[in-house]
Amino acid sequence: MVRKGLIVGNWKMNINHLEAIQVVQKLSYRLDLGDYERVDVAVVPAFTALRSVQTVIEADRLPIGLGAQNCHWEESGAFTGEVSAGMLAKLSVNYVLAGHSERRALFGETDDMVNRKVKAILSHQMTPILCVGETLDQREAGETLAVVTGQLMGGLSGMDADAVTSTVIAYEPVWAIGTGQTATPEDAAEVVSAIRVALGERWGDAAEHVRILYGGSVNAGNIAALMAKRDIDGGLVGGASLDPDSFASIVRYWI
Ligand code: PEP
Repeated sequence: MVRKGLIVGNWKMNINHLEAIQVVQKLSYRLDLGDYERVDVAVVPAFTALRSVQTVIEADRLPIGLGAQNCHWEESGAFTGEVSAGMLAKLSVNYVLAGHSERRALFGETDDMVNRKVKAILSHQMTPILCVGETLDQREAGETLAVVTGQLMGGLSGMDADAVTSTVIAYEPVWAIGTGQTATPEDAAEVVSAIRVALGERWGDAAEHVRILYGGSVNAGNIAALMAKRDIDGGLVGGASLDPDSFASIVRYWI
């Protein structure tokens, strides 16, 4: 089964809408059509920059996907400060992160909330990127696989094989995010392979179609070794995606 690579840049709460236009334009100057044929590329700006980035992507017909960092599961209503999946779909958003560890840890997101978000995202024909990953304490206690599969099954609860196939999973060990401490390719691959096995046990062949990314201090120096692992289909990149030069080098990991 050949799964196309996917490299996603999560800008988090960085880069205003004016800067975002420049970052996307610079990124596009550094990538060519051959790169996009080999790997799908997406950027995930803050909400305030989505419209500006969408306009650049459309005007210049860039083959770059647009992602959002979060959404609410309800369509509309009295949820001050929230943004619905439908609103994002209207902005031609392709991907939406769900259950990033920062949202779980800092904003109290539970598996049930993440599951509702994943379903809302899919209902608007966008691709959820469901993030799962263990903390350092959990890893040291030998709980990595239990935690990760628990978040996986919680996030995908009630979904059929088609819906699961339309979802991207990102394995992001919390201890590796923003710390400069990347999981070794072997450690990352072990967990990613376990995720694929768990998907297969529940949804059969669909598991072979699901793209599973690794995230956690990915950079231009470590991406090639991660991508060489059979089950790792791409990267969710935080810090190193803010600079178009470094992000382009990650996208072109084979060079
Ligand atoms: C992330 O935010 O998803 C992430 C992986 O961040 P970083 O690459 O900075 O560790």
